[in-house]
Amino acid sequence: MTRSQLGVANIASSERILILGGGLMGLSIAHQLARREQHVTVLSRRRSEAAGFVAAGMLAPHAEGLSGALLQLGQLSLSRIPSWVAQIEADSGLPCGLRSTGIVVPFHSANERDAYPTAAFGEHLDHEQLAQELPGINSAWKAGLLFAQDGQIDNRRQLMRALESACVDRGVQFQEGVEVLELFTANDHLSGVRTRDSEGKEATLTCERAVLCSGAWSGQLLPQLPVFPVKGQMLSLQSPRGALRRVIFGPGIYLVPREDGLVVVGATSERNASFSEGLTPQGQTTLKQGIAALLPEAESWPPMERWWGFRPCTPDESPLLGNSPIPGLLLACGHHRNGVLMAGATSELIADLVCTTAPKQDLAALLPSFRWDRFQSN
Ligand SMILES: Cc1cc2nc3c(=O)[nH]c(=O)nc-3n(C[C@H](O)[C@H](O)[C@H](O)COP(=O)(O)OP(=O)(O)OC[C@H]3O[C@@H](n4cnc5c(N)ncnc54)[C@H](O)[C@@H]3O)c2cc1C
Repeated sequence: MTRSQLGVANIASSERILILGGGLMGLSIAHQLARREQHVTVLSRRRSEAAGFVAAGMLAPHAEGLSGALLQLGQLSLSRIPSWVAQIEADSGLPCGLRSTGIVVPFHSANERDAYPTAAFGEHLDHEQLAQELPGINSAWKAGLLFAQDGQIDNRRQLMRALESACVDRGVQFQEGVEVLELFTANDHLSGVRTRDSEGKEATLTCERAVLCSGAWSGQLLPQLPVFPVKGQMLSLQSPRGALRRVIFGPGIYLVPREDGLVVVGATSERNASFSEGLTPQGQTTLKQGIAALLPEAESWPPMERWWGFRPCTPDESPLLGNSPIPGLLLACGHHRNGVLMAGATSELIADLVCTTAPKQDLAALLPSFRWDRFQSN
């Protein structure tokens, strides 16, 4: 597919591209564009609210039981992650905390295990093998799938910071504390955005190209986009070093062991919480009960931190990628619970759409599945 077939117009490399949102997608795309000599400015309302700082960082297309085009996108992204991370680490000089720990999904029965959507991609474990992989796992779990190819990255403490540093190193300009209030068009094409900075000053920035990656808030800028928040509460525990070797991915609860023994525990999935900030007793109780149901010994590991954030979700829980209703505005939003996994492929795809003759065939072939208007009835 050529760029014109994809509806992507040419862009002069001297033209500044605005990135609307400085979360995980915004930073990843800005970095890829800057590596291709593009002039990029990131407009970021609030760094700390980005789900990129919230996520558990699992790289888990198989453990998540994805299917269809979403599984393919996840697998393509997983395969690109080592080289993507190598670029970020080279540009920033900082480690990203990529770990190939593998992920184990436990089940109550072998039948349940064999019916899992991605069972064909995993090593089938019986009760004894499950206990060998996960010493101390609750004996209620009788079988498992080991996805050795899935992994994790320390997004909260390392990846996001490394991306920021890599972007600055590559010449990306940042406007932090700047909220995009409105998009402007002229002759049916994007012409600029109205912004407000942290001191309340409003401004208009002209631009012919922008990428909308405002996470769970993307629909606020473009109401045609069916993006909504799914709140997730998290906590971390300090385990004895090496107490947990693999990620455990149970139903509604997971434990992700970092290199230094910190274990990230997540997450609630609250579809009715809207943008309500803060922890709730019910959410934290859910996590506590989940820990006991998975790994009883972890109940004695001391909690270190608790936090929350908003997944950018869509009706089919898949992202919106590529063209938008406004020519000149590209979309990279709605990655729901797999945005860390998908950031490698997404940033490459969007940078390809902006810069080159055509995206690589494997990614281009998936674009129709992630069109923004796929939910509209004919
Ligand atoms: C609890 C939880 C656990 C998760 N675990 C995983 C996991 O294990 N693996 C995985 O792959 N994914 C995981 N995710 C999903 C992943 O974090 C997201 O899919 C990803 O961060 C989305 O990136 P984003 O850039 O679209 O949004 P964000 O990272 O949320 O960034 C959006 C940014 O846009 C800014 N913004 C919004 N509106 C405006 C505006 N009008 N003007 C300027 N700036 C604006 C916000 O301030 C924010 O900084 C998890 C998410 C949550 C919440």
